[in-house]
Amino acid sequence: MPNELTTRSLGVIANRLVLVAEDTAVDLEQASKGRFPADPEGVFDTWDALVGWAATYTWDEEQERLPLDGLQNPVPAPRQVFGIGANYRDHLEEAARAQGHQGEIPAPETPLIFTKFRTSLTGPYDAVPLPTRGVDWEVELVVVIGRHAERVTESDAWSHVAGLTVGQDISERAVQLAGIAPQFNMGKSYPGFGPMGPVLVTPDEFDDPDDLEIGCSLAGQVMQTGRTSDLIFSVPELIAYISGVCPLLPGDVIFTGTPAGVGLFRDPPRFLQPGDTLVTWVKGVGELRNPVTAGPGYSATDEPNGDK
Ligand code: ZN
Repeated sequence: MPNELTTRSLGVIANRLVLVAEDTAVDLEQASKGRFPADPEGVFDTWDALVGWAATYTWDEEQERLPLDGLQNPVPAPRQVFGIGANYRDHLEEAARAQGHQGEIPAPETPLIFTKFRTSLTGPYDAVPLPTRGVDWEVELVVVIGRHAERVTESDAWSHVAGLTVGQDISERAVQLAGIAPQFNMGKSYPGFGPMGPVLVTPDEFDDPDDLEIGCSLAGQVMQTGRTSDLIFSVPELIAYISGVCPLLPGDVIFTGTPAGVGLFRDPPRFLQPGDTLVTWVKGVGELRNPVTAGPGYSATDEPNGDK
């Protein structure tokens, strides 16, 4: 039926919420005749009503269609951003191998949690400005919380999720690993280090939201592929664990971790360079396309910092 939206997902264009179909979008406030607001930060207060309404929305031929190349970060201002380290066994093993470990690598007993500070978040097509020659990529499934989650159980966790999106946990490895204890927060929080998008898709759109294909390519070469069924701590386990300490608030974001194939552990290491295009995907959500540029302070002649 050509006049119906077949894929229902939510995005942001020109700082206003939009409902996204296969290859086009409509303004949410206009389409809902004012029932739902344009402000991306207010959307989670009425999330259930919005999802219910979107499921029955029929395309209005009169309504202006918006091109998708204007899509921005669908969650521009989360109150809390959580990142998870060492959450895929193959990534753990590549790290251990690079550090000279032999034999069986024990899995972590609790999730390794850090934050990406909010100012690092950007949109699906924004540039990644490099501060140094030691900047790396990490494809990640990103979970967006839909309702207040405090000490929730694993079995109840998915009901607290508004949607899923694609993320890149861009990481400056020297800063990440420097110090008496590594400071993941800082190395992962330069401006442009958190591309997200292109849309938010509700978990019920997937056959199995715990088994999604993710990956990224650089300059046309596939660098990482993985499945979220291989997460050491699954999405429900992460929500149960984090919400046992920090209440999760509507709109909060969790970067769930990255599989093997990052640049730091390649032989030889490979880092992002000006002129690269980083393409990042989660099957069923979409893809990010981020051009890589020389940022403030970048020098093409400095030693790459990330090889420690
Ligand atoms: Zn990461």
